[in-house]
Amino acid sequence: MANLLRQQDAMGYRYPFLDLSKVNNMYIGRIKEAAERVICSGRYVGGHEVEAMERALAVACGVPDAYVVGVSSGLDALRLALRSYMHLGRLAPGDEVIVPANTYIATVLAVTDCGLVPVMVEPDVLTMNIDTSLIEGAVTPRTRAVMPVHLYGRVVWDGMLMDTVRRHNLLVIEDNAQAIGATAPVAGFNGSHISGTLGHAGAFSFYPTKNVGAMGEAGAVLTFDTQLAETLRAMRNYGQSRQYHNELQGYNCRLDPLQAAIVALKLPELEFENSSRRAIAGVYDCMIDNPYVSKPIYDGTGISVWHQYVVRVKDRDRFRDYMAGNGVETAVHYPVPPHKQACYPDMNILEFPVAENIARECVSLPVSRCTTLSDAEDISMIINKYRHG
Ligand SMILES: *Cc1c(COP(=O)(O)O)cnc(C)c1O
Repeated sequence: MANLLRQQDAMGYRYPFLDLSKVNNMYIGRIKEAAERVICSGRYVGGHEVEAMERALAVACGVPDAYVVGVSSGLDALRLALRSYMHLGRLAPGDEVIVPANTYIATVLAVTDCGLVPVMVEPDVLTMNIDTSLIEGAVTPRTRAVMPVHLYGRVVWDGMLMDTVRRHNLLVIEDNAQAIGATAPVAGFNGSHISGTLGHAGAFSFYPTKNVGAMGEAGAVLTFDTQLAETLRAMRNYGQSRQYHNELQGYNCRLDPLQAAIVALKLPELEFENSSRRAIAGVYDCMIDNPYVSKPIYDGTGISVWHQYVVRVKDRDRFRDYMAGNGVETAVHYPVPPHKQACYPDMNILEFPVAENIARECVSLPVSRCTTLSDAEDISMIINKYRHG
């Protein structure tokens, strides 16, 4: 009944969670121009549009000298980074990779797809990101890498993480699918503060719902490592170094110029996109005042880009029905943590109470560019009138 109510209203929310056609409409003139340019170019995979996007991403992240390799999705970015490290002898099947217990499943799928072993670590209850103070305790003689996920747009990066990584000589592959343009409180290994440039490799996603979205699938890996970048370029293209000469067993994970051109034209607007989300988050932070609704806490953990604005509510279904009844569409990121998914039966016995509790209580409020500041004020007032049963 509750779900039915939400579904029936799906087309008619006064405050929709995310209206992608509206978001893309803000760029429509330039998107049509780019599409026409690509169609007329006769080149539909790879090529200079992809190279232009790769340069634009390095610039948007404030590291114009970094290598960027455009690939077919965020999952492929993670997968290919791991596969490339395996090819370079930095990782071997059976090696352990530390991942957060609270993440989107793609992080974990990338690890298991490569024959590596995910070792999960509980989130910090306040930031909902991996608890960096618990990483050291999860390191074993087989640990070779950490994959921090900057979940919901907030960077997870601090001295404790860096110390553990240095002490055990680990690789850091950032899952930056949700945090493009976010700022870390302390500099990463390359001296920069921007998410995705902090560790040894950073994976980006341009899935349509991300802060910078393509109109299809797209992703990228950013690194300062020449060897890794070269391996990634071969890996995404059947493993060939030049045409029909295959040095490694690669994949077809190439990016198409249409997606690349759309991403490239949006990248210069990254700061605008992120600051408009920040403004909406600011309204929620000022205005939401209800003992039954816990707001995300912000305390010296850098500058978030608010991919999601996630509150926590004990009786979530009831709260979401109340919101839907008042015209507010909400979402849940994510209802089932990776270790409880049916695809990982061996992990189902594991218990990560903090992550499981977040999965039970989290609710995402509208925070995209199609939500206005006055919408955010209305939504806050609706939330403040919510009463627990
Ligand atoms: C979206 C996402 C991915 C995967 O990106 P795709 O482009 O959808 O493959 C990976 N990790 C996280 C945390 C994500 O949110």
